[in-house]
Amino acid sequence: MEYINEILSNLKKNNKYRGEFKKLQSPQKEKVVIDGREIILLGSNNYLGLCDHKEVKKASMEAIEKYGVGAGGSRLTTGSYTLHSMLEEKIKDIKGTQKALVFNTGYMANLGIIQALCNKDWVIFCDKYNHASILDGCLLSGAKFLRYRHCDMDDLSYKLENFKGKCNLIVTDGVFSMDGDIAPLDKIVEISKKHNAVIMVDDAHGFGVLGKDGAGTASYFGVNSEIHIHMGTLSKAVGSIGGYAASEEYFIEYFKNFSRSFIFSTALPPSSVAASIKALDIIKNEPLRRQRLLENSHRFKMELKNLGFKIPDTVTPIIPVIVGDEEKTLEFSRQLLYDRIYIPAIRPPTVPKGSSRLRISITAAHAWEDLEYVIERLKTTGRKLGLI
Ligand code: PMP
Repeated sequence: MEYINEILSNLKKNNKYRGEFKKLQSPQKEKVVIDGREIILLGSNNYLGLCDHKEVKKASMEAIEKYGVGAGGSRLTTGSYTLHSMLEEKIKDIKGTQKALVFNTGYMANLGIIQALCNKDWVIFCDKYNHASILDGCLLSGAKFLRYRHCDMDDLSYKLENFKGKCNLIVTDGVFSMDGDIAPLDKIVEISKKHNAVIMVDDAHGFGVLGKDGAGTASYFGVNSEIHIHMGTLSKAVGSIGGYAASEEYFIEYFKNFSRSFIFSTALPPSSVAASIKALDIIKNEPLRRQRLLENSHRFKMELKNLGFKIPDTVTPIIPVIVGDEEKTLEFSRQLLYDRIYIPAIRPPTVPKGSSRLRISITAAHAWEDLEYVIERLKTTGRKLGLI
């Protein structure tokens, strides 16, 4: 297996080795301790600050007291608790669907949904910037899949007109995780109707953030009921862990029976499920959190734009600061860490070549004075690196 060592040393030589994690020594929140230093964290998907919420933690601990720490089996055997069903009820109510099904992660939800639904009779039309778990689901399904240019509706229509199969699935992220832009779901719905295609939306980053009561990107566009399969995660705005599918009953029953990542894996532990249930209540009952998140993000973006940074127009808390050059991006991130700010550098293959970036994500929990400090350091370092 000499070639494995060779590949690893090449990665190291080219500064592409990923394995030296920054280890947090404190809870996941707006400020964290890394290597004994307090750092402002601007890369987390903990958008609403719920990972370390007192009530969420209490609900989780009570579930441990009552049910223990492990589920002990798959949902289909011995691992299904009343809590899992309660969570599914809540998700289906938020999404306005007939039913929901909880998976262990968003990754497993994408894998399980697409693998169960599609086979060689299907053609899958996939946005070029879709999350890796969607691609992996497509590969696992054995379906033919085509990637259309990012959010390019002409390309999607062209591909559907020319390469349609017996059954067709259009799958897109609601919010794109590395760019923070949103898919034009209103237009995708129109196109899908014309071609009688099933639509699936991965709303990992929109759930809890956009739309009525945080219902997500489809709700933001007013097309919730037109999306056939809603997929999402409980690991971002919800602050816990888990994935879901929300849809009509027959789809959900089908996934229960055929999604291998659902069938062959131990269920989520009761503590995580209880945390998600409490967090969803908080999201519903405290709309100010979401409002603060969107206000913080908007204000921060405007400040960076005024400084001359290249920032796309988006309505989400994900703010990519495009640097381009990989080395420069790493250097930017390193210098900010020295100033006690952690913003991850994102490089190919996660993003296209030449578009390396700092991926900033704002949360509702960030104090504006801390964000002001970050803006000031971004300005100084950005100038030093010749970016503005
Ligand atoms: N879809 C998208 C768009 C994501 O960004 C992610 C997580 N990065 C996932 C799916 C996977 O979700 P999870 O982390 O819950 O596995």
